[in-house]
Amino acid sequence: MSQFSLSTGGYASKLALETTRTMPHIQPNFWTEKRLSQLTREEWEALCDGCAKCCLHRLEDDETREIHFTNVVCRLLDLETARCTRYAARSVLVPNCVTMTLADLDDPYWLPSTCAYRLLAEGKALPEWHPLRSGDPESVFNSGNAILGRVICETEADDLEYHLIDWIT
Ligand code: SF4
Repeated sequence: MSQFSLSTGGYASKLALETTRTMPHIQPNFWTEKRLSQLTREEWEALCDGCAKCCLHRLEDDETREIHFTNVVCRLLDLETARCTRYAARSVLVPNCVTMTLADLDDPYWLPSTCAYRLLAEGKALPEWHPLRSGDPESVFNSGNAILGRVICETEADDLEYHLIDWIT
């Protein structure tokens, strides 16, 4: 098994939704009308639902590529807001933190199955609880798709093998 973690913009969905509200050039339903390669930077970032699942450590089976999530989260994540505390510097502070690009979505098996980027890359629809669809940033939490309250910081964790979970796939 190999270990990796990533951060693809796991800031709170409130930020993403506020972005869509305050930037009139972001079109309604843009994610259904454009390819990922056609998105503006604002639209790309607005896709993030803020679940922060991508900030969890996980293990990958080297032979099968099966991903096993843990309840251990990156030390930079604020456990009360689900926002990265050092977003701008995260790639320096956590070298294996991934700043996701279009190329990373060629084979997005490593992302959580609910991740908006993975869903669109696989030709699927955003779930009803996604803030872009619900209009409510709290819908991520209310639908049980936030990690807050169910995870621990990596600075307090044992070996990751002891922290495997099945509530994220
Ligand atoms: S898993 Fe996807 S949608 Fe959730 S915070 Fe990470 S990048 Fe955003």
